[in-house]
Amino acid sequence: MSRFFSEKYGSLTPYTPGEQPQDMQYVKLNTNESPYPPPPAVIEAAKEAAAKLQLYPAPDCKALTAALAARYGLSPDEALLTNGSDEILNFAFMAFCDPDHPIVFPDITYGFYPVFAKLNGVPYTEIPLKADLSIDPADYVGVHKNVVIANPNAPTGMALSLAEIERVAAGNPDNVVIVDEAYVDFGAESAVGLISRYDNLLVTQTFSKSRSMAGARLGMGFGCRSLIADLNTVKYATNPYNINRVTAAAGLAAIENDGYFTENCRRVAKTREETKKALEALGFTVLPSKSNFLFAKTDRISGEALYRELKARGVLIRHFTQERIRDYNRITIGSPEQMRILLDTVRAILEETA
Ligand SMILES: *Cc1c(COP(=O)(O)O)cnc(C)c1O
Repeated sequence: MSRFFSEKYGSLTPYTPGEQPQDMQYVKLNTNESPYPPPPAVIEAAKEAAAKLQLYPAPDCKALTAALAARYGLSPDEALLTNGSDEILNFAFMAFCDPDHPIVFPDITYGFYPVFAKLNGVPYTEIPLKADLSIDPADYVGVHKNVVIANPNAPTGMALSLAEIERVAAGNPDNVVIVDEAYVDFGAESAVGLISRYDNLLVTQTFSKSRSMAGARLGMGFGCRSLIADLNTVKYATNPYNINRVTAAAGLAAIENDGYFTENCRRVAKTREETKKALEALGFTVLPSKSNFLFAKTDRISGEALYRELKARGVLIRHFTQERIRDYNRITIGSPEQMRILLDTVRAILEETA
């Protein structure tokens, strides 16, 4: 730390992204990326846009916002595009949370929420998941604080039903309820249809997972006009050109090729269920997942040791050290071939350690 670093950030522990080691070629199942590249039309659109990189992009991201809103049956002023959904989540903490408007979220969830809270000086409370690691929606009714829930939750992959999400939105009419739907396309129910009825509901999604565009950094939020207007105020006060020209063009082409991604999500969900069965056959406990990853543990080897042994053999998964979940590992669903390598390697490790 330099002697110039502001005191307000001096004690900040930043988010730890999944590791991206370069020492060898790994089967990379640790950051929930799609195993499938974007379709040719998206790559073409990005190339064309790159030829105009001397020009600033459209700050209002008009064409993409209109296409996205139409895709979800909304009006363009009910949608906002951002630089990854991490950005809209941070904008929401900036816009709606402060020392008088604290926030609650589960004790086991996306690791960025406490970081955004600390970054923005927002007090927060962590509500424990139930013993089975699911969220109890009753814990979030009438909390008189803002709420952020990932649905499906990370790293468990478990989802609440639409009725349960609605109960949380309806149960906190005077607070903002943020539903982070980064993984919704892999099998959960989206709450986007509720925003016309709940002026306190902000739904965020991303192109990073189901749309194979983690490298482009494109996320979005849906909410009533006034919520989106507030978030736009923060955006124009922070970074008006937050969506670069190449990403905007790629995003538009992605929306025009929706069927490609729907099919990929179906493939990932199928591979997920096959992998779950195979892990269970090896003695793993695997949480029911509606996302593109599995959260699994076994008493045949510790979570940490399995992570380490897999990495030594060229397979990367994600291990978290939090007490409640340190027996588990989060495994991204890759291609069927990648999952075959994972399962073969797990089998070999279990045999060796038996
Ligand atoms: C991946 C992820 C995000 C954000 O990803 P971006 O790449 O910034 O869009 C948000 N929430 C959860 C729970 C995630 O797993």
